[in-house]
Amino acid sequence: PEFEGMGLKESLLSGIFTHGFSKPSPIQQRGIRPIVLGRDMIAQAQSGTGKTATFTIGVLERLDESLKATQVLILAPTRELALQSEKVVRDIGGSMDLSCHVCIGGTSSQEDMRILQSGVQVVVGTPGRVLDMINRGALRTEAIKSFVLDEADEMLSQGFTEQIYTIFQSVPAEVQVLLLSATMPDDVLQITDKFMRDPVKILV
Ligand code: AMP
Repeated sequence: PEFEGMGLKESLLSGIFTHGFSKPSPIQQRGIRPIVLGRDMIAQAQSGTGKTATFTIGVLERLDESLKATQVLILAPTRELALQSEKVVRDIGGSMDLSCHVCIGGTSSQEDMRILQSGVQVVVGTPGRVLDMINRGALRTEAIKSFVLDEADEMLSQGFTEQIYTIFQSVPAEVQVLLLSATMPDDVLQITDKFMRDPVKILV
C-alpha cells in the first residue's frame, strides 16, 4: 500500500512527500480511505502511530479549497497538542490553498475573533477557547463537515465533557465525526454512541 494509490489530489500527495513521509503507517493504510469517503471513525491509537497524519490527510482531501469557511474543526486536550496538530495541517497542506488557525487559551481572544471572522478553513483548538469563539459568533459552524476529537480520553478526563457536548450541539447534525483515543473508557464510549453513525473502528 502506497499513498499514491489512495486517490488523493496531487497537491496533497506533494505535501505528504514534502513532509517526509514515503509509506503510510498501518493506521494510515486503514484509516485514510474511509475518512475520504465520509465515514465516521473510532480509532484506538496511541501517539506515535501516525494518527495525526491519518485524520489530517483524510480531512484535507475532503476540503473544498474554494470555500472560504470553516470546514474542519479539530479538538485537542492541550495547547501543546493543538499547536503540534496545526503544524502538521500546515505542513501536509502546504501545497494546497489552505487557511488554518489555532484557538487556544493564553492568547488574545480579540485576535482569534479577527482571524476567525475571515473564514478560516481548518480550526484546531482546545475545547474551552473553541466554544468561547462559537458563543461569540466568531467561529461559524454551519459549513463544518469534519469534526475531529483527538485524544478524546484525555479531553474528557480533563473536565471538558460539557464543552464537548455543547460543541456537538453547535455543529451540523450530518457532520463527519472522527474520534481518536488511546483508551476507551465509558465516557468516551458514551460520546461514540450518542454522536456517531456506523463508525469504522480501527485498533492499532
Ligand atoms: P502521531 O502518531 O501522529 O503522534 O505521529 C508520530 C510520528 O510519526 C510523528 O513524528 C510523525 O511525523 C511520524 N509519522 C507519521 N506518519 C508517518 C509516515 N507515514 N512515515 C513516516 N513518519 C510518520
